[in-house]
Amino acid sequence: MTLPRRRRSRQVRVGRVLIGGDAPVVVQSMTNTDTEDAASTVRQVEALARAGSELVRITVNTPEAAARVQEIRERLDAAGCDVPLIGDFHFNGHKLLTQYPDCARALAKYRINPGNVGRGMKRDEQFATMIECAIRHGKPVRIGVNWGSLDPELLARLMDENASLAEPKDAPEVMREAVIRSAIDSARQAEELGLAADRIILSCKMSQVQDLIAVYRDLAGRCEYALHLGLTEAGMGSKGIVASAAAMGVLLQEGIGDTIRVSLTPEPNGDRAREVQVAQELLQTMGLRAFSPMVSACPGCGRTTSTVFQELAQKIEASLRAKMGEWRMRYPGVEGLRVAVMGCVVNGPGESKHADIGISLPGTNELPVAPVYVDGRKTVTLKGERIAEEFEAIVDEYVARRYAPGEAKKKIPIKAV
Ligand code: SF4
Repeated sequence: MTLPRRRRSRQVRVGRVLIGGDAPVVVQSMTNTDTEDAASTVRQVEALARAGSELVRITVNTPEAAARVQEIRERLDAAGCDVPLIGDFHFNGHKLLTQYPDCARALAKYRINPGNVGRGMKRDEQFATMIECAIRHGKPVRIGVNWGSLDPELLARLMDENASLAEPKDAPEVMREAVIRSAIDSARQAEELGLAADRIILSCKMSQVQDLIAVYRDLAGRCEYALHLGLTEAGMGSKGIVASAAAMGVLLQEGIGDTIRVSLTPEPNGDRAREVQVAQELLQTMGLRAFSPMVSACPGCGRTTSTVFQELAQKIEASLRAKMGEWRMRYPGVEGLRVAVMGCVVNGPGESKHADIGISLPGTNELPVAPVYVDGRKTVTLKGERIAEEFEAIVDEYVARRYAPGEAKKKIPIKAV
């Protein structure tokens, strides 16, 4: 498989996590709890980290929230959760970072939105205060532009300049340029204030797929800062997932993007960690990283009228996810395992042979037997009521044999059961 060549970017250290350069694309997420409620925030950060979020951003919007950040960090550390925390600042970040030095110290990175730093003369002053704070505490920053909160003074100036051109550009193009200029100009300003270039990450979030692609292509060609990628306000459910994957998939394929966040709107009482799972699956299906064994399942059709294979695929996937916490420690490389669960004899044996382990279930009017393939060879045929349990046991045994330390990467035929 030929993987895309990553764009050259400066590497930034965020706590123990490296972003950019030759580091793998990092998955991050953000809490939606009230940071003033430290207990809920700790619980959600832990859940996001457990799901695989390598960095977690929290809102720091009030003095009370800033006052709880150190406590949140300490409670996470006490629980053995060392995921770096990022503080999301708008409007009053300059005050909170200076008045709450414990908060400034406890965070691993500050997110600064140059459109929400202040207006007029105050903008530069307040931006400088935040950058000086980052320098004082040795922290990196993300200069995170969002088109919905774009600096209105910069946009007005670029619109005026554009209007005086012999051939003015259209308004969306000027707006995209303003987003990019806001990020790059703010980063240069931060460097002039003394922040090293390898302490700066940029993002330019847009809510439309084509805008995001156009902006990041341009941004990537104009600077070497590490880039945080994300479609803002992606939306709920499948629309949010599809839009994020479409936009980020194109950019990642072009080597653009050093860290990603999938900004999904959760269903009411939905699982916040879903955005982490989607980000991981995006990177894994593109072959950029491996987080968890992948299950290939056919979509089903008129040749299989029962739900047995759907249930088995679901069960196997859930069981693999549940075991990954332990497996990751015991069996290095297990996240690259490929399992196929197929509905009938048409594509079942072929697909199963290409996976590490595959099972081809009986379609309608086929013999009620399910051949199992391990490393491309048919090993055993399952039948009866306990196909799911027996197949799971075969997967467990395969993992233990193939990925046990010292055995890693060796393909060992599993014994027939
Ligand atoms: S493998 Fe069989 S059941 Fe599955 S989609 Fe193909 S023909 Fe249909």
